[in-house]
Amino acid sequence: MFFSGTDSEKKGKEVRTNLYYFAENQMLDCNQYIIKDPTTDELALFDAGNSISLKGLFKGMKKLNLNPSNITKVFLTHEHVDHVLGLYPLMKLRKENPFEIFAYGETAKILTEGDESRIIPGNIGISPNMFGVKIIPLKVTDLINTKEINISSEYKFEIHYTPGHSLGSISYYDSNKKILIPGDLVFTGGSFGRYDFPGGSLNILINSIKYVNDLDVDYLLPGHMGISSQGNQQIALSYKMIQSISFF
Ligand SMILES: [Zn+2]
Repeated sequence: MFFSGTDSEKKGKEVRTNLYYFAENQMLDCNQYIIKDPTTDELALFDAGNSISLKGLFKGMKKLNLNPSNITKVFLTHEHVDHVLGLYPLMKLRKENPFEIFAYGETAKILTEGDESRIIPGNIGISPNMFGVKIIPLKVTDLINTKEINISSEYKFEIHYTPGHSLGSISYYDSNKKILIPGDLVFTGGSFGRYDFPGGSLNILINSIKYVNDLDVDYLLPGHMGISSQGNQQIALSYKMIQSISFF
């Protein structure tokens, strides 16, 4: 099986107090982040991974004494397969005790409609069956009119619309703690998101990177690859790189 073995533990670490990072597994997975509310023990999960990796996330969480049953909210950065498929097995597990799902605009619409063709973009040669997942319509809260969300007494994120990688892409930004969760907009090491999927655009991606480049960011917590505590440096590097390719 092509996708077997990817339920291995997602290695987690506490990036700062009550904020945890779980590194992506191989094969079309994504980084995930968890914020724990210290007063209620409730957990907010950022992005859902590819579904096979859900077991791996649970393994990683247990090592850090985080109980998967305490996930009460899932915040999505965008609508792509490697970020959302994990919602479906998590829903099944939590039938009796459902969690809330938050997404923005197109992402909320696509998930509400269960539009498989837009969750798995283009011809990347995969189907939800490969992940043992059936895509069904979900109940999703649209963040389109939300400026800011309180995750806990410690963390509060502004919602910034940052398209270019996809139509439903947003960045979550905590201006006090200087934390940016940009999904697949910018990565560390000068990388940035693909713009060749449906709804993607190089020019729009450049504008969105320019936009986050103006924010004050220490912690850059992207959807893939590593994280950084020197966010502004990393974003500036990606901005420089993407401008250089746009000349051709
Ligand atoms: Zn994506």
